[in-house]
Amino acid sequence: MPDQVATVDDTATEGAVVLLTDGGDDEELPPPPEGMPKYLWEPLQKQTIGGLESAIEYAEELLEYKQRPVAMSSTSDAGKTVAEKPAKDLAREQQREAKEEFLEMSSDERKALSDDQLARYGHVQIRKVPCGPRCDGCPHGPYRFVVLRDTKGEVTTKYAGKARE
Ligand SMILES: [Zn+2]
Repeated sequence: MPDQVATVDDTATEGAVVLLTDGGDDEELPPPPEGMPKYLWEPLQKQTIGGLESAIEYAEELLEYKQRPVAMSSTSDAGKTVAEKPAKDLAREQQREAKEEFLEMSSDERKALSDDQLARYGHVQIRKVPCGPRCDGCPHGPYRFVVLRDTKGEVTTKYAGKARE
């Protein structure tokens, strides 16, 4: 009986050593995500574990920063805001997808959306807009605008057609 136990232990140790050797030099790094430029993944592959951990931490901080809500003071640059609707609170992943979808839409597609649907993409403003001097019809509208952060994190305003009065 003691003999048998010793044999089993030896086999287990040998097995572990073989596995470690296999996991060494000839195992390749995981491939970088599709579409990620070499200037980004190449230095990442050279990082130590500590370096990667701080890169992850910094990327998360940047992500948070670039997705921060638009400050209300920066939204009323053209015309007079007569009504507004705050952006819907979506989960980060949903928000990113919605944003990409909205930025790719044509202006006709944006015009076809309801105020409620627009609020999925950003802060909705209803504005009356002046066109210039010597106009009897000023201000025009009201028009709908969606204020959101683009994929770089910068504030952008998209026209979404006439508002229903
Ligand atoms: Zn005018």
